[in-house]
Formats: sequence, structure tokens, C-alpha cells
Amino acid sequence: REEGLFYGLDLGGTNFRVLRVQLGGIEKHVVNRESREVSIPPQLMSGSSSELFGFIASELAKFVADEEKCANVLSNGKKRELGFTFSFPVKQRSVASGTLVKWTKAFSIDDAVGEDVVAELQTAMEKQGLDMHVAALINDAVGTLAGARYYDRDVVAGVIFGTGTNAAYVEKANSIPKWEGELPNSGDMVINMEWGNFCSSHLPVTEYDRELDKESLNPGEQIYEKLMSGMYLGEIVRRVLLKMSLQSSIFGNIDHTKLKTHFLLRTPHISAMHHDETPDLKIVAEKLEENLEITGTSLETRKLVVEICDIVARRAARLAAAGLAGILKKLGRDGNAQEQRSVIAIDGGLFEHYTKFRECLEITLGELLAEYASKSVAVKHADDGSGIGAALIAASQSQYRNVE
Ligand code: ADP
Ligand code: MG
Repeated sequence: REEGLFYGLDLGGTNFRVLRVQLGGIEKHVVNRESREVSIPPQLMSGSSSELFGFIASELAKFVADEEKCANVLSNGKKRELGFTFSFPVKQRSVASGTLVKWTKAFSIDDAVGEDVVAELQTAMEKQGLDMHVAALINDAVGTLAGARYYDRDVVAGVIFGTGTNAAYVEKANSIPKWEGELPNSGDMVINMEWGNFCSSHLPVTEYDRELDKESLNPGEQIYEKLMSGMYLGEIVRRVLLKMSLQSSIFGNIDHTKLKTHFLLRTPHISAMHHDETPDLKIVAEKLEENLEITGTSLETRKLVVEICDIVARRAARLAAAGLAGILKKLGRDGNAQEQRSVIAIDGGLFEHYTKFRECLEITLGELLAEYASKSVAVKHADDGSGIGAALIAASQSQYRNVE
């Protein structure tokens, strides 16, 4: 039933997206959507809370001004409503507030921890003179689930494979022993798993992972995420290449300064090398030269580099598929017994752009499920699902506001 114009703000790993969605109600769904992506200056990721939110609010204000100018629409007296997608762990006790538990990925802004991120954003918007109300705070996996389920009731989970990773799924409320208070009418409840923080002695952690973790911004945390998400895959490959080069001089007598620099080799680079189809692996040569100043490699060496990318991406994809299978198993949708279709909506740059990661994930999921389930389960890409989900949740919340 949601109708009207709503805004979304998606703060993920390296960029944030602002979007404006025109919802047309149950028949028309999303009538129109405009979005803009802004990269976050790296120094703001470890500065102060007010600097970060000030920057976000000012970019949002610019977007709103531009959109309203060119669309020539006024908000006809109604306050602008915003769904805020925030992809970090929060303790959330109401739909439009939540305190930050800890930062993950490349963020580390101490004075924001323990604070209500909605209040911070709201204050920053007021300072910008932006008349907008934060109607809902949404986790990106939850937003992806909500956005995809809006179109398809068979969607059971929303999953992110982007800079980081997380999943949310729909659980029977009476299977949640921790829940106190009234059960929702639907009988269902969304669980935000925060699975990036999963850790188990069964995870295939190597010396490279252990060192990466130790030298990270959040040692000991987000171990599952560090094995498989976009922020880390390039960095794992870099560490393997460095060790090989130091031990065997496979790259010849090179200067190791670049190869020793953390996060210089990024996941899009290893993806490009991994997908190199040229007979002499020209793209591999290019990426090694551009990013690591490694030149004059033999074809043999370049093949070896591709193989390392393959091992790292394949491990990531198989671990990711194991997570999906785990959700289906918990829901009893992994076996031969059920007839229901189950859809898992996935968003995130890693899944979207790293073809071999996605293919391996899909094949592995098929291997992990019983024969019947492997036919009734579908994985689908929810393009910007979390942004749309955020706008939808904002819309449903603002309805309540208008009724009050
Ligand atoms: P976020 O997780 O910050 O919300 P995205 O979902 O857009 O953002 O994912 C960004 C991540 O996707 C990057 O950190 C990067 O690792 C990965 N990525 C982007 N482009 C590619 C690519 N061409 N190949 C592989 N991975 C990519
Ligand atoms: Mg995101």
C-alpha cells in the first residue's frame, strides 16, 4: 500500500548511496528511482562522528536539492521521509534508533561507538538545514530481504556479499527463545544474523588469514567476513604473493615496497586477473604492473597468480554457500521433503561483479542441498535491494506517523 516519494541513504563500506524512490502502491511497486553514489574520503573513516555525519548530510542535501529542482516537485507540505541503511552492528530497540556496537570493515571512529546513529544523522541534517525525518534505521541485509520480499513472498533471506558480508532471514517468532514480549501478528520475525562475526575452529583459517586479522582494525572479530568478503580477498592474495616472492623470487629481483603495502591489491584487481581470457594473460601482467610495480613476468608466473586468485575466491565462495545452506537447513528447506520454493536475495558488489565467485557459490550450494531442494531453491541478485528496502520501510513507518 506504500505510496509516495521516499528517500534512502545507504552507508556500506566505501561508498554511500542516496536514493529517491517513488512508490506506486501495491500494483505499481517502484515507479521511479534516482540514485547517486558518493565515495567517502578515507580520512573520514577514522575521524570523528560529527565529521562523517556532517559530510553525509551535506551530500544528501545536495542530492535532494538537485532532484527536487529537476523534478520540479515540492514535497507538498509533507516532511521528507528517509530510510537509513546502516551496515554495521547496532543494538536496535526501536525502528528509528540504534546504538552502534562496533565498527567493522575500514571504519574506526571511536566517538560514534555506543551512540545513536540516527540521532547523529538527524542532528547533522538539521545543521545542513535539510528538512528530513529519519523514519527507519535498517541493516543492509534486512533491507535486501524487505526489498526482495516486496516483489516475491518466497524470499526467505537477504544476504550481502559486498565490502563485508551479512545475512538476514525470516524465522518463526515462536522459535526464538530469546524473544520476550508479545509475538507479532504474522508469527514471523526477521533475524539479522551479523554472520560476518561468525567464528569456529572448523573455518579453514591459514597463516595469511591470521596475520591479516592481527594487523586489521578489528583483530579477533569478523573472522568469517575476513575469509570471504570484498574488502579482504585482494589483501589475502597480496599476502600470498608477497610470501612467495620473498621465498622464491618468482617475480625476479623486485622492489617489494608496493607488494608489502596493505590493501594495495584490491578485490576488483584480482577479479580482473582471475577472469583474464587472453592467451598470454595480458590483463594479469597489466594489473601486476599497475598495482604492484611487478614487470617482466613469465607466462608461467602469471598462471600461478591466476591460480592463487582462484584458490582464494573459490574458498570464499564455498564458505559463502555454506552460510546459505545453513540458513536453508535451519528453515527446514534444504531437504527433499518440502514443496515450497525458496528464494535467497543477494546484493553486494562482490556477488554482482565477481562472476567466478558467483558461479562457484551457486554450484556449491547445489552440492550442499539435497536433490529436490537444489531445484526449489533460487538465488537471485537483488539490485540495490537494500536501498529500496530502506525506502519501503521508511514508507511503512511514515504511514503510522501520519495516522497518529
Ligand atoms: P558496500 O559493501 O560498501 O555496500 P558494494 O556492495 O558496492 O558496497 O560492494 C563493494 C565491494 O564489491 C568492494 O569492496 C569490492 O570488493 C567488490 N567489488 C566491486 N567491484 C568489483 C569487481 N569488479 N570485481 C570484484 N569485486 C568487486
Ligand atoms: Mg551495501
